Amino acid sequence: MASSKSSKFVYFFGGKKADGKADMKALLGGKGANLAEMVNIGIPVPAGFTISTDVCTYYYKSKNTYPKELKKQVTEALARVEKVMGAKFGDKNNPLLLSIRSGARASMPGMMDTILNLGLNDVTVEGVIKKTNNPRFAYDSYRRFVQMYGDVVLGLKPVDKKDHDPFEVLLEKKKADRKVQFDTELTAEDLKELVAEFKAEIKAKTGKNFPSNPEEQLWGAVGAVFGSWMNDRAIIYRKLNGIPESWGTAVNVQSMVFGNMGMDSGTGVAFTRDAASGENIFYGEYLFNAQGEDVVAGIRTPLPISDLKKDNPRIYKELDGYRKTLEKHYTDMMDVEFTIQQGKLWMLQCRVGKRTGLAAVKIALDMVEEKLISKEEALLRIEPNQLNQLLRPVFDNKEKQKAIADGKLLAKGLNAGPGAASGKVALSAEDAYKMAEKGDKVILVRIETSPEDIKGMNASEGILTARGGMTSHAALVARQMGKVCVAGCGKLLIDYHAGTIKVEGKDIVVKEGEYISIDGTTGEVIVGKINTKPSEVVEVLINKTLDPKKSKVYRQYASLMKWADEYRRLGIRTNADQPDQALNAVAFGAEGIGLCRTEHMFFGGDRILSVRKMIVSDTVEERKAALSEILPYQREDFYGIFKAMKGRPVTIRTLDPPLHEFLPHQEKEIKELASALNISVEKVKAKIESLHEFNPMLGFRGCRLGVMYPEITEMQARAIFEAAAKAMKEGIKVKPEIMVPLVSDVKELKLQKDIIDAQAKAVMAEKKVKIHYMVGTMIELPRAALVADEIATLAEFFSFGTNDLTQTTFGLSRDDAGMFLPKYVEREILPNDPFEALDQNGVGKLVEIGVQKGRSTRKDLKIGICGEHGGEPSSVEFCHRAGLNYVSCSPFRVPIARLAAARAVVAERAAAKKSKKK
Ligand code: PEP
Ligand code: MG
Repeated sequence: MASSKSSKFVYFFGGKKADGKADMKALLGGKGANLAEMVNIGIPVPAGFTISTDVCTYYYKSKNTYPKELKKQVTEALARVEKVMGAKFGDKNNPLLLSIRSGARASMPGMMDTILNLGLNDVTVEGVIKKTNNPRFAYDSYRRFVQMYGDVVLGLKPVDKKDHDPFEVLLEKKKADRKVQFDTELTAEDLKELVAEFKAEIKAKTGKNFPSNPEEQLWGAVGAVFGSWMNDRAIIYRKLNGIPESWGTAVNVQSMVFGNMGMDSGTGVAFTRDAASGENIFYGEYLFNAQGEDVVAGIRTPLPISDLKKDNPRIYKELDGYRKTLEKHYTDMMDVEFTIQQGKLWMLQCRVGKRTGLAAVKIALDMVEEKLISKEEALLRIEPNQLNQLLRPVFDNKEKQKAIADGKLLAKGLNAGPGAASGKVALSAEDAYKMAEKGDKVILVRIETSPEDIKGMNASEGILTARGGMTSHAALVARQMGKVCVAGCGKLLIDYHAGTIKVEGKDIVVKEGEYISIDGTTGEVIVGKINTKPSEVVEVLINKTLDPKKSKVYRQYASLMKWADEYRRLGIRTNADQPDQALNAVAFGAEGIGLCRTEHMFFGGDRILSVRKMIVSDTVEERKAALSEILPYQREDFYGIFKAMKGRPVTIRTLDPPLHEFLPHQEKEIKELASALNISVEKVKAKIESLHEFNPMLGFRGCRLGVMYPEITEMQARAIFEAAAKAMKEGIKVKPEIMVPLVSDVKELKLQKDIIDAQAKAVMAEKKVKIHYMVGTMIELPRAALVADEIATLAEFFSFGTNDLTQTTFGLSRDDAGMFLPKYVEREILPNDPFEALDQNGVGKLVEIGVQKGRSTRKDLKIGICGEHGGEPSSVEFCHRAGLNYVSCSPFRVPIARLAAARAVVAERAAAKKSKKK
């Protein structure tokens, strides 16, 4: 049997005293730790206790059993709760009712199960009636409890997308029988009947009676919540968010307070600032006479929190006070849930609020100004990938206005997730996922979303719902995923069976698979496809169509980037093969080109024919003749790049891919080549055949090409130096760095470097200029990393090609791994795709060895990375720690890399401070 780390498993909170505190998230989960912290800072929280994550670990290790100490600790904690709340669990006169909720270390909104109103049975319900003098409320609570317990603990939840919840069917029938439209119109007697009908349904479906013993109910619920850690949607959510399974969830057992006890009661959710824009305003919504799930599930559309100021100024003032207390205490934007029970305000939950990338930037910048946080802290508050949201497209306004003028505006909902998206309608998450897999852009349209839908939401461009507010499931999850979202678009009539969307009072019908466009910034829903256009940052920096002074978003972006640059030590370069790409990257802050792949230039215009001639040549003379046709093109390409880069360093790589990649495969192209060369089609085919390789990525490629055909390197080097000379003559500074790919031994580099140096010397003599250049190599084979000290005797710089280094270290084809690698990640054989985030444990070790060995020969060796990892935040931070000089990434990832590099410095300083303290 598994052993338990500590023998304390239950942590009480309530009154003025809590056993836990905010920094105990690993043990108590986020919710439990924050409930304890709120108690500690004097905020009113209904008393309860947290069963720790250790119990979850134990539960799964020990065949769904609990540590023997647990029962006693729960009983003791429950007694304390009873004392503080002045009510007794299971009492017939004054019953205490409980909520049972999950609470993992990282927030997983709605992914696990919750049970409310626990402790009700035919006896205690009478106690509730006595206490409240409100039989309707008592029976409404009771029927909600039986329904939830039936769904969650007893397994009556619908399984299929077209399945109905059996309890909802009974509820609808009851409303139809009574000829009423809303649940609120049902009487106490109706609800009492429903309780009996629900219980009968449970008995019919499960063969078991609904448990009436409150203690039995409690343990059933606790087991179900621990069990929900391993449900499908929780597993998918963890995968998407990198949450390890081993963390487990805690279970929070807390006294119920009721927002549905009449019009002096209510419930709401709020953010201490606007989670979409970051504006420093109280942002949230509430409903009078409702329970929490009504707000979150979007069954009724709630009121904005600003209305509470008018409707109940006393409560608003108190709530606004807690808003300030919480922000000051946590120094962050918080997300809170509250309930007002008969005029008394209770805080039910607080946690750091999820926010859009836009809001993350604004809040961090504002909080520095408000002296709540330091600049360092601000940098840590923004996940580098969140910057994507600042760089995201919006609709082409003219096109959108035209669509609206043409009567295509279908409806307007809430602007829950900014950005613009256009795609084909999918009416179920499953269909959305399948359509996206086929390559379609999809908009998922649902009456409301539920946690089951996350896979489909993740696959969609945008999400549109008919019900629910700014804090509904759809809105929260979409923002977290960075998806465009329009929520609560109440006019939509969505018919899942007919596969159509209609709108009240309009005769437009949108069918599944047809295009729809949603604007998550304004809430507009438009029929048809609308083209999107770049974000304001892109308009200012790249298109230069917007005055920076007119764009607040741009100015925030610019301030953040300025701070990042103050901190970071890593240089940031870009991978670019064309002048326009290079210019974009410079606008985003790139300081040079870290990789120019020359082969991409071979496909432009008529060049490919010359390249093909070069490949099929039988003699050196023929090859040289073909190469001399290519040279002027290459020279112009390099000249264009030098010009665009204005003296910034430009790393140009000599030819790398296997030659057959350039050969024709279609009959028509083969004939063309044969006639251009004046040889037979058969001869061309024979040549193509002769270049066939079983493992081309491990074959005749990289520097091996230049070793066997030195004239290729010769031509490329000459083109580079002639371009440099031309630029210099025009007063443009140049810094060429010539990089040899796929080197595994210093002798290969020697052969290539000799050719390059000879060409440099020749061109400098011919053109009478002195060109400062460097010759270096890629380190992209394990052997190169292991003999990096020898390679560094000749290489003046290294650049880690971590795409190939990952491929060759894992022995995993980067072109074919897609077939099974995602499954590896799904099954946690690998923590993530090593072609996306650098495998620090394995490939990273080779990088460290390469750095150490390289610098053991050449102390100041300049080292960079140009694999795709150069723009991935965790890999960038690794590169900083490994002592690289720069990372090089695609242009749109440059801002992300700048921020990640700054965060690496902040993290390093924090770690140094910590170890000094020790
Ligand atoms: C690499 O291997 O990491 C690299 C940058 O080169 P390529 O992707 O062109 O092979
Ligand atoms: Mg490579």
